[in-house]
Formats: sequence, structure tokens, C-alpha cells
Amino acid sequence: MIDSAKRKFILSKGKPEPKHVPWWGEPNFGGWYTEAEIDAVVKAIRGSMHWSEGFGHGGSAREIEEFENAFAEYCGAKHAIAITSCGVGLDIAMMCLDLEPGDEVITPAINYKASQMAILGQRGEVVFCDIDSKTLNVDPEDVERRITPRTRAICPVHLTGLSAPMDELLDIAERHPHSMHGPLKIIGDAARACGAGYKGTKVGAKGWLTAFSFHSQKLMTTLGEGGAITTNDSRLAERIRDINHFGGEHGWGSNYRMNKVQAAAGLVQLSRLDEMNNRRRVVANRRKELLESAAELVMPYEPPGYVHVYYVYPILVQPEWAGEKRDKILSMMEKNFGIVCSVTNRPTYLRWPYVAEKCGNPKLKVSEDIGQRLFCPPLHPLLNEEQELYICASLLETIDIIKKES
Ligand SMILES: *Cc1c(COP(=O)(O)O)cnc(C)c1O
Repeated sequence: MIDSAKRKFILSKGKPEPKHVPWWGEPNFGGWYTEAEIDAVVKAIRGSMHWSEGFGHGGSAREIEEFENAFAEYCGAKHAIAITSCGVGLDIAMMCLDLEPGDEVITPAINYKASQMAILGQRGEVVFCDIDSKTLNVDPEDVERRITPRTRAICPVHLTGLSAPMDELLDIAERHPHSMHGPLKIIGDAARACGAGYKGTKVGAKGWLTAFSFHSQKLMTTLGEGGAITTNDSRLAERIRDINHFGGEHGWGSNYRMNKVQAAAGLVQLSRLDEMNNRRRVVANRRKELLESAAELVMPYEPPGYVHVYYVYPILVQPEWAGEKRDKILSMMEKNFGIVCSVTNRPTYLRWPYVAEKCGNPKLKVSEDIGQRLFCPPLHPLLNEEQELYICASLLETIDIIKKES
């Protein structure tokens, strides 16, 4: 807890280093690399110098195979395929559904727009579902209400580093099979949930397919861009590999392959992932202690049996503080303290005109309420205690100023 005397003392010292740059709300500090990643990258390049070796071809390099095996094992999935990004992973997922015109895929609107772009890219119909205000992930009951005879798949996002309720979704998928294609397919967007835990498993172990991102803002990274797909379905894995190699012998395909230098960096990042995520949890737990007593704020929720890895630290303001008042907190935090909080995320149909045009406005009650109340102060595994105290003191001070004004 920070009382007002402690708050004044912390803020009297001014902003800790780095002083003259904004502290971004999404992990914009870049990845967290060590000398081990640099050594692995250099080794992979040196190992490619001879003409008989090169970078390997068709994704056949040893580093890629090792990375795929290690990633599958880490997630507890049978297969992992390394690709260039999570966006591409979701595109491939939708390709593998072989959608017919009019086929529907259910996805939440408190989300990044990637899943909707992937659905639209394959000429599918986006059906938005509402979320649970405590977890910010899909609300299974609302998902179930939106199923029609045209529903083919459910595409939940593990939004803030917390797993979606996979068992409930899998149960719904079994109980509402498509007349031709059988149980609905669960396609997880795990761009922000690498390493997150769910009832003794890791995200990526369950569902038809899960897509991960190794972009530099995410929990682990492969030199700025990168991704992977995990699945337990061997035939699906084979098809994805074919799509990734210009269609194999018989099918359509292109090239979405990761290169071996990225895979070499990824192997080291993967070996450090639990350590990096645990540091996030330490920062998040400390923040919770510091802010919990503020009656205006609701701290993030970690359901029993889940391991939240805090890609972001999602705080809700109480309903009386929604909308303009929340926005005022954000603008004052930036102007007075150099801290940029993100709203990760607003309903996509309100945020992006293209999504609204193609998917319509479903007027989701909970999602729109959360869109007015959510904000995420910066969180990174390397935030030290001094930086953390400054973030929390700034937030409490800002709330106090706004309270006094009104
Ligand atoms: C970042 C992100 C993506 C896209 O990942 P890329 O690897 O950059 O393509 C997709 N979905 C969510 C939820 C994301 O945060």
C-alpha cells in the first residue's frame, strides 16, 4: 500500500530512469535478450557460412527442427510448426477450415483485430461474442447463444496473458457439431499467452490449433517477428506443413517459414520463458499489493487453476469512473508523469472502421462497458521496484487530483 505521505515522497524524487522517454503501456521496451541469444544467433550465422551448409532450405535446418520440437514439448502439444507471425498462423488456421460462403466463426471483440482479419481473409462471417468482465476472455454462455447451423469454429483470444476457458469451449464445441464437419473447431489466438497455465497444462495443449506470436512486444521473441502453430492433430499438422511449403505434392501453399537464426534465438528464449514470465508475475503481484486498497480500481483476476503471465496488467476503473474520467486518468498520466497506459483492447468494431464495415456493430453490453473502464499501465519483467513505485504513486496521485477537481 502507498499512503499519501509515501506517495508525495516517491513523486518528489521525479521520474526514475529512463527519464526522457515515455514508458509505453504495451510492452514496447522490446524483448528481453541476454548474451545467450546473441551467441546462439552468431553461431547459427557462422554455421551457415560454408556453401555446402547455408541456411538450409525448405525450413529443413536443424535449429528449426529443434525449436519446433522444444516448443511442442513445452506446450504439451504433439506438433509445433514455426512460422513468420501469429497473423499468418491465424490465416493458415482459417484456410484449414475450408470455409464455404456464409460459414461463421465466433470471436470476441475485446481483442486485437487479427482473428477477424483472418476470418475475413478466407471470406468467412465474423460473429462477435461477449466476454466475462472478470477475466476479459470469452464468456462461454454467450458463445453458446451465438452458435447457428453455419458455425464452423470458435476463435478465443487468451487476451491479457490469461488462458481462455478452454474446457468449457471444448464442451460447447462437442455439443453443437456442424452437420458436415463435426464438432466445432477451437482456434486459439495465443499471441499474448506463451507460457500461460491452464489446469495443469500450458496454453497450446488444447483445442484444434493454437497460434502464437514471437513479435518483439510479446512474451518471448524471435528477433522482432515470428510465430508458431501447435496442434495435436497429426493430419492437420501435415497440412499446415504443406501450406508452408508451397502446397506439398497436391495442395495450395506458399511460404510462411521461420528462418534458422530466428529459431536459434527462439530456443534460448524458450528456455528462459518461465523465468521471464515469473518475473512478470512478481511485478504484477507487487503492483497488486501497492494498488489494491484504491477503491476506484479493480485489479486483474486470476481464476483458480490458471497461471496468468501478465502480457499486460489490466486494471478496471469502477463504473463511476468509466469513459471520459478513465480517459482523463490516461491523459494526465502521460502529461504529468510520462507514463502511457494502453487500453488493451477496446471493442474492435468501435476501434477500426474496416472491422465495423465488414463485421457490423453487435452492441455487446459487457464488451462496451469494459472498453470504457479498462486501462493497462506499463508492465515488463525488467521493471525495478523504483520504477514500479513511481508508476503506482503516479496513478494514485492522478486519481486524487481528479477526485479533488470534481
Ligand atoms: C500481436 C497479436 C497478434 C499478431 O501477432 P503477429 O505475430 O504480430 O502477427 C494477433 N493477436 C493478438 C491478440 C496479438 O496481440
